[in-house]
Amino acid sequence: MCGIIGYVGPRDAGNILMEGLRRLEYRGYDSAGIAILTPDGKLAVEKRPGKIGELEGALNGRPPPGRCGIAHTRWATHGAPTTANAHPQLSSARDIALVHNGIIESAARQRPKLRDLGFDFRSETDTEVLVHLIDLAFRDCDRLEDAVATALAGVEGTYGIAVVSSRDPGKIVVARNGSPVLLGIGDRDEYFVASDAAAVVAHTQRVVRLRDGDSAVLSAGGYRTFDPSRRSVWRGAQIVDWSPESVGKGGYDHYMYKEIREQPSSLRDVLRGRLLEEEGSARLGGIARAEAELLDTDRIVITACGTSWHAGLIGAYMLEELARVPVTVEYASEFRYRNAVLSPRTLVLGISQSGETADTLAALREARRRRCRTMGIVNVVGSSIAAEVDFGVYLHAGPEIGVASTKSFSSQVVALALFTLFMARRRSMSIVDGREMVDALRRLPAQVEEALAVDDAVREMTEAYKDAPNFLYLGRGYQFPVALEGALKMKEVSYIHAEGYPAAEMKHGPIALIDENMPVVVLAPRDAVYAKTVSNIEEVRARRGRVIAVVSEDDDGETIQADERIVIPSTIPALMPVLATVPLQLLAYHVAVLRGCDVDQPRNLAKSVTVE
Ligand code: GLU
Repeated sequence: MCGIIGYVGPRDAGNILMEGLRRLEYRGYDSAGIAILTPDGKLAVEKRPGKIGELEGALNGRPPPGRCGIAHTRWATHGAPTTANAHPQLSSARDIALVHNGIIESAARQRPKLRDLGFDFRSETDTEVLVHLIDLAFRDCDRLEDAVATALAGVEGTYGIAVVSSRDPGKIVVARNGSPVLLGIGDRDEYFVASDAAAVVAHTQRVVRLRDGDSAVLSAGGYRTFDPSRRSVWRGAQIVDWSPESVGKGGYDHYMYKEIREQPSSLRDVLRGRLLEEEGSARLGGIARAEAELLDTDRIVITACGTSWHAGLIGAYMLEELARVPVTVEYASEFRYRNAVLSPRTLVLGISQSGETADTLAALREARRRRCRTMGIVNVVGSSIAAEVDFGVYLHAGPEIGVASTKSFSSQVVALALFTLFMARRRSMSIVDGREMVDALRRLPAQVEEALAVDDAVREMTEAYKDAPNFLYLGRGYQFPVALEGALKMKEVSYIHAEGYPAAEMKHGPIALIDENMPVVVLAPRDAVYAKTVSNIEEVRARRGRVIAVVSEDDDGETIQADERIVIPSTIPALMPVLATVPLQLLAYHVAVLRGCDVDQPRNLAKSVTVE
């Protein structure tokens, strides 16, 4: 959440910062602001509530001149999205500007003390406390980095920050604790700060990821990184394999649509080099060295949030059915605060697209404290979760910019399938069954391509459902998590209230909601529970609910009576969720577009949830 971008180098900072903000807008869009050190030694600041377009309008295409600056796009935690609360937050003399991602938890306690010392507060943000503390510390030192370090020593909370000051110009001071910040190392003596690599790949693919407690000072002459005790430390650069084009919309209207359509290729990427046809198994470089520990595991706890949690639930079904390991799935925010029964033989598996999700990161840290083994399934290489777990699997899905996750979900399910295969073949799965699963995985990307062919049909039927006040999604077995995910997508992008339920649970409550205005999406592929699902469809129809049935290509076309039928390809039950999710992603997308919603930046949401 929240986007930070900073630049220092030989070029004018303004346009680079504005372009970086646009790349980061998916991380928060309550307000945007920019601060640039101008050639006359002043700090020029502009901020506006609302999306980046508002700030662009205010600047009229001409950001202030200057070669060093910072900018921010906000996802508000403390204080409404107003100009005063927008970042950069400024010192009273407007000579220090600070952008912040995270929450200063000690702010409420420190505000009265700073008021007593004569500091005026102009915003409701927690962040403003930090800028005044830096100002206070600056009275006793000359270097901005010293003032920042003193101020940070006195606060509690999480932060990724970038600070500039006209009192010590030409440099950006950066620090992190719990919120991601990376440095981008350009070719021609130019340096960037950003919350994620998407903001800098247009300029450089070399990034340095700071660790918690680290700080850095960037100037046109170079950069230095410091460890938590402020000793100079070398943090090596990594090459980000995202191309500058991959962070664009690729000719589509929306990132969400582009990412839905990218799934055949993102699935090829997660599978690449990982299928062992002959052995009927999977090769996963990130867990190969942990084989002994994985085989000694007696229980798996999968922990995640949102869409990743739904992928985790599918993973649990697969791991229990095929690898015969007991698995529970926990919301990360619940898991970390309850006292779960854990042992050193428990594997805690965290799933997160960004690898920065604060709740999941905290859950994994708690698991480590409890001496569990930890594993991650993440997309962003080098992210905090990737760096902290004992071992893990990358998705290689490329950047996901649409706030509603789509391609990451399918890649997570496939990564979990690979992990299941790896575990199952070492435990109870026969080579014949292993080969069948390998074959199904190999065919899956092309089948997703086929599933995408329902796009036009889904778009056409959308008109009839776009004004529904509610949607119900039903599924059994592997299709139950798909129902949850379908409902979440609908809520996120169209603001229509939607619920996912195990199909059989409908009669224990939600059936009371059904009348002729209730569209009910039923996931009914030909599987072991098909006949039961058909009965549930009849129960809906008997109450005049409108049935949108997602059926598989081997359906006889007669058993299911539905208002709409969406036909998808068929595969083994464990992988059907990947195919069944595609029409639900498209349904949510088209409904949202028809309703005029901002698909890529739904209200109140933001991507990469770095606050708890
Ligand atoms: N807590 C700060 C605020 O509400 C920072 C929020 C963010 O990460 O965008 O302004």
